[in-house]
Amino acid sequence: MVGAGGASYPAAFRLAEAGQKVVMADPKGELGGNCLFSGCIPSKTMRELAQVAVRAQRLLSWTGAVDFVDLQRQRDDVQRIRFLQHQGELRAHPNVTFLKGTVELLGNGRARIQGPEESTEVTAIGMILGTGARARRPVNGPPCRQDWRPRERPRR
Ligand SMILES: Cc1cc2nc3c(=O)[nH]c(=O)nc-3n(C[C@H](O)[C@H](O)[C@H](O)COP(=O)(O)OP(=O)(O)OC[C@H]3O[C@@H](n4cnc5c(N)ncnc54)[C@H](O)[C@@H]3O)c2cc1C
Repeated sequence: MVGAGGASYPAAFRLAEAGQKVVMADPKGELGGNCLFSGCIPSKTMRELAQVAVRAQRLLSWTGAVDFVDLQRQRDDVQRIRFLQHQGELRAHPNVTFLKGTVELLGNGRARIQGPEESTEVTAIGMILGTGARARRPVNGPPCRQDWRPRERPRR
């Protein structure tokens, strides 16, 4: 399984439940891909929290300020909980070996997984490429943010 995003890791668990041995690798070292790491989850956590603050201002005449550091902490907590849940899923599926590393296809069912310290070679009867895609900014379109883990307060 090349990549461990939302398209890949459920397939890895299904294959394991069907009795297959699965090797899955992703340089992030966590399951969830860009959605959990830098896309959907961080962006929606920030959006939800911003909406709560705006509603409190409008409906409850709340005049307090939102500390961006608190928002970041909440966002990071949501992410951390999901990472922990995924680690539990991996423990529950001993047929799935997850490696931190980038996969290079070598042909004839062989692949090299280059990890931070060592490289591992595997041979498989099948491979699933779940390497995702990158957003492209449309011509003359608005700016397109790929990574939603801003460390500074975003401008309005
Ligand atoms: C800012 C933002 C907000 C988003 N919000 C939403 C939302 O609210 N709802 C929604 O449904 N979707 C949202 N998306 C889209 C969602 O993130 C993607 O649809 C989803 O992540 C695609 O999953 P995937 O598994 O196909 O790919 P990815 O999540 O991109 O996963 C691919 C994985 O493959 C790994 N990889 C790549 N090359 C290799 C290699 N050679 N070897 C090993 N691993 C490799 C990458 O490290 C990555 O982890 C958002 C995206 C962004 C950028």
